[in-house]
Amino acid sequence: MTPGQTSLVIGAGIGGLGAAVALRQQGIDVDVVEIKPDDGVVGVGINQPGNSLRALDVLGVLEECLAVGYQFDRNEHFDWQGRQILVTPCSLGTDRVPPNNAIARADLHHILGDAARRAGARVAYGVGVADLVDDGDGATVTFTDGRVGRYDVVVGFDGIRSPMRRRLFGEAAEPEYTGFAVWRVTLPRPAEVTHTMLFHGDRSNTGVIPLSEDHMYLLHVTAEPEDARYGPADLAALLRQRLAGYGGLVGRLRESLPDDGVVYSPISEVHLPAPWHKGRVIVLGDAAHASAPNLTQGAAMALEDAVVLADELRRDRPVEESLAAVSHVRFARTKLVQDVSHGILATEMAITADRLDDFAANLREHLPGQAAFVESQLNAPFRLADPASL
Ligand SMILES: Cc1cc2nc3c(=O)[nH]c(=O)nc-3n(C[C@H](O)[C@H](O)[C@H](O)COP(=O)(O)OP(=O)(O)OC[C@H]3O[C@@H](n4cnc5c(N)ncnc54)[C@H](O)[C@@H]3O)c2cc1C
Repeated sequence: MTPGQTSLVIGAGIGGLGAAVALRQQGIDVDVVEIKPDDGVVGVGINQPGNSLRALDVLGVLEECLAVGYQFDRNEHFDWQGRQILVTPCSLGTDRVPPNNAIARADLHHILGDAARRAGARVAYGVGVADLVDDGDGATVTFTDGRVGRYDVVVGFDGIRSPMRRRLFGEAAEPEYTGFAVWRVTLPRPAEVTHTMLFHGDRSNTGVIPLSEDHMYLLHVTAEPEDARYGPADLAALLRQRLAGYGGLVGRLRESLPDDGVVYSPISEVHLPAPWHKGRVIVLGDAAHASAPNLTQGAAMALEDAVVLADELRRDRPVEESLAAVSHVRFARTKLVQDVSHGILATEMAITADRLDDFAANLREHLPGQAAFVESQLNAPFRLADPASL
């Protein structure tokens, strides 16, 4: 594509806003539409591992993220009574980016939204896509507010339930529920929470992650029925019940849980077979590959997608060829993240209280090597396949 050509990004989440910045950096004109009425974010905190920070560096917002986030360089594992199992140093990052930076989701959203607008992208809230016709020379899009636009490329960053994925590929790939859900809440940060601390319990897992000098977030993973519909007013009491067996730090935090602010998220996964485009339209981020959150890599993958998309589109070749290259070079890396995340979730949720000692011994023996392998992959360039090798 050449500067001045036009793009539409569907979804102003982390990936969509990242793509808006990356496309503007290539001089491509950008409209973003977001179905939600405003830029409010439901969620708590998010960890940005080193590879995510490398993508944010390309987008020019690294310093802003580091200024409001909390950097750390290791994970520490405990059993549910607070007995330490092991510490794993994190080897992600470069001399420019730390291994991890955790940040409030609202802060990340504002940083990316401001960057997109500063770069010249137009972001419209309360607007979706009513119809899309790709005639080969361009895509004509009718919006839900009645406006019509014509674009050289359309990018669906519209999340795990992606309407654009369904429009392009029917039901070829639909999210599957893992059987587990995450409970999250922001709390004041105790002084000892200076890095990720994971507490392994009886078919459950609890983590605490620092977000700033003042705050941290607690996450708790449990088996939940797919059709569970918990009322917002009940979430805090239900989380307290689920944390009942925990001692140590988590036991103390349980006693100080607020009555509101708990967020409940079922964990589902999807991985669309490549290619992720049809004609001039592609889906990326969670729309193409949503993983369990155990590696804290979902948003990282979406931001990497955004950077690779813009880089492929700047090449002098037909749009369809650039879009084919994107899923080709992104497939293996996003699949690795999904498979490893799924493996961690399944292993942790299979632990029972009477087998915690076996689990701890296993973790001490195998985790350092496994973590080093995964981190070496994530420290590699965002492309895991060379298009020239096709
Ligand atoms: C419990 C949990 C914890 C997580 N923790 C981490 C972490 O620590 N680190 C990390 O890197 N990742 C984490 N993730 C994953 C991360 O949140 C996602 O991978 C990331 O948000 C994906 O970004 P996205 O832009 O692809 O999708 P989303 O962030 O879901 O954004 C999609 C956007 O599209 C909009 N949209 C939907 N339909 C339409 C439509 N028809 N028209 C217009 N707009 C539409 C939505 O409203 C939304 O704003 C976690 C996920 C979960 C569930």
